[in-house]
Amino acid sequence: MSLNKTEEEQIVRTICNSHCGGICEMKVHVSGGRIVRIESGDEGEMSHRMCARGRAYRQRVYAPDRVFYPLKRKGPRGAGEFTRVSWDEALETVAHEMKRVRDTYGNASILHFCSMADAHTLHHVQAFHRLLCLFGGYTAPWGTISNEGECFASGVTYGLRPREPQPWMRRTEEEYINARLIVMWSWNPVTTRQGTRASWSLACAKERGTKFISVDPRYTDSAATFADQWIPIKPGTDVAVLAAMAYVIVNEHLYDKPFIDTYTFGFDRYKDYILGLEDGIAKTPEWAESISGIPAATITDLAREYARMKPAILATGYAAGRTAFGEQFHRAIYTLEAITGNTVIWAQPAAPRALRHICRIPSPPNQVEMGVPSRWNALPYRSASVNSSARVNVNLLADAILKGKAGGYPADFRFLWLSNTNYLNQLAEVNKAIKAFQQLEFILVTEQFMSSSAKFADIVLPVCTFLERNDLYASGDGGIYGLVSKAIEPLGESKSQLQICDALAPKLGINDYNDKSDEEWVKYIVAKLSEEVEFPDYNILSNQGFYSKKFDKPTAVSNKRLEDSEQKIFPTPSGKIEIYSQIAAEMNHPLIPPIPKYIETWESSNDPLAKKYPLQLITPHFKRRAHSQFDNLPWLQELQFQAVTISTLDAESRGIQDGDMVKVFNDRGQAMVPARVTERLMPGVVSLPQGAWYTPDENGVDHGGCANMFTKNETSPAGAFVCNSALVQVEKVEK
Ligand code: SF4
Repeated sequence: MSLNKTEEEQIVRTICNSHCGGICEMKVHVSGGRIVRIESGDEGEMSHRMCARGRAYRQRVYAPDRVFYPLKRKGPRGAGEFTRVSWDEALETVAHEMKRVRDTYGNASILHFCSMADAHTLHHVQAFHRLLCLFGGYTAPWGTISNEGECFASGVTYGLRPREPQPWMRRTEEEYINARLIVMWSWNPVTTRQGTRASWSLACAKERGTKFISVDPRYTDSAATFADQWIPIKPGTDVAVLAAMAYVIVNEHLYDKPFIDTYTFGFDRYKDYILGLEDGIAKTPEWAESISGIPAATITDLAREYARMKPAILATGYAAGRTAFGEQFHRAIYTLEAITGNTVIWAQPAAPRALRHICRIPSPPNQVEMGVPSRWNALPYRSASVNSSARVNVNLLADAILKGKAGGYPADFRFLWLSNTNYLNQLAEVNKAIKAFQQLEFILVTEQFMSSSAKFADIVLPVCTFLERNDLYASGDGGIYGLVSKAIEPLGESKSQLQICDALAPKLGINDYNDKSDEEWVKYIVAKLSEEVEFPDYNILSNQGFYSKKFDKPTAVSNKRLEDSEQKIFPTPSGKIEIYSQIAAEMNHPLIPPIPKYIETWESSNDPLAKKYPLQLITPHFKRRAHSQFDNLPWLQELQFQAVTISTLDAESRGIQDGDMVKVFNDRGQAMVPARVTERLMPGVVSLPQGAWYTPDENGVDHGGCANMFTKNETSPAGAFVCNSALVQVEKVEK
């Protein structure tokens, strides 16, 4: 959909959704078939300002390192040496290998992993899923490297996925603005977005006098902007502090008994744990001080303020849950919210779940998963398909390839297809992933750029950006829809994801893959939505760009409902918020306790390994990237440079000055990066932002600053990605 500005220049309105936590309306100025400028939308509900990444998208479209043609590997894997081939030759090669692997080893030996880069409705995982299911099936991943700890915690505590249209995880703007206290716990929305308007809501709250406290190893930009107090905390010790806060709240009778009695299950068991009746250790502030480094008096004050200054919000990011046993962090947060009555319960969800299933390309079942039992740690809210033990945890891609059936995985894997993703770079332990990739018989990568992963491919197929195709945006919680409109024709010989699958299908012997154009698909989905709910037709949606579906306004649970304790509000076994989770109890795993407990992470500061590698590494998000996207854009590189941040104290003891080149290393890898010396990070911790592209020298030493050189390719027992549980050493590189 476009609006004429002048005869020469058109403005195309579309939607940026770059896996950054935001959704922004974008106005793309096009002249002579080229994008000449990009600016923020200024109309509609989502028109808050775009970030620097969206504004730099023009440079992404025209980046010199974009993959414009199909490529075939000619050098060793990883060397990045390719020859240009025709689409026909590339697709023939891929189809031949897929059929050979299927016929020799079975469909399960084909792995397909897809991430969220440029993800919308048509040109995303469902396009590949349909093709692969029509091919007879494949091995799909389960879980997420983003917030699997939170997904598990929400599943066992509320019986729901996080971001279900219930705002206990996803607070409304009004709630932020009206809060008296906001505790930003490993939460840095100024950088990570988490909703395009999150920072705006916080600014409004600040103006109204809301108190902000930041609990984080870093003095983040969000802390610098909003916080009245910064409480530095050792990585991985959050649950101990939350338990100690609960101890103070229980001891001083600051808890909300009516709320607990009505809405929660298992408080007494948690009380026994925090008071030390269960294990003989009272979870006092002094106990938590010895673990976390936070003074006991500070923990006590924080507990009192949180319990008394209602409404109060424990605003959490995912970082503290991206640790070994990270599920416990989110469970402990939910518990503290519940016992203080700070959980907001709404009478009904904002949007019916079924709408999400309409917003996808339909597909037959995956034959590889048919009749296969669920995993032992399956969650009831997930589908049988996602819970199937035929799947591989996304974090364990490298381990699964290396060990196969002998290591307890569902198959021996031979063929890997990576689409919309740079998982060699983004999953833990790059050197292990390289070994795994070298072991495979064939790797197909569909990509926009010659990424770290693409360098290991046998065939790279060029994918266009979202500014070169049409699609529909439908938000995860079903409330916001919009047309993603093509601004320019695909550059080079790049194709959309759906076009690639469409072209590959007949070579695989599949003749019924697709019978619609992109526009017809969007119209089909919009018509299906209209059958379920009141929804604008395609032409109206096309004219207005965004559509925010107003479902019945969620209302807080009434007093009458509050008294009706028999009413099941949550889809948990008890129908309540399960502080004691019966689902977790049935898993019967010592490291997945039914109540949230502090479990010391591996590679903590107490680990004997800390003698050799004394610094705890954290790998946060970076303002100029969305995961590994945008890393290669010069405009954004000017904004921030990749560096390891180290505290003044740790830098001084190593003779390191700001800007010095340093070596970061542990037993898993080495990288050379500049050092940023700062007071904004607690001693004992170093911070290397995730997403920088692995750029090895001939010895395998990385010069790009890739954080996953150091992380451990292991998951928490319930599946959490553990990128913030790693020890390293940092040394100055002498010139
Ligand atoms: S990358 Fe920036 S502009 Fe694009 S959706 Fe995210 S926050 Fe908005």
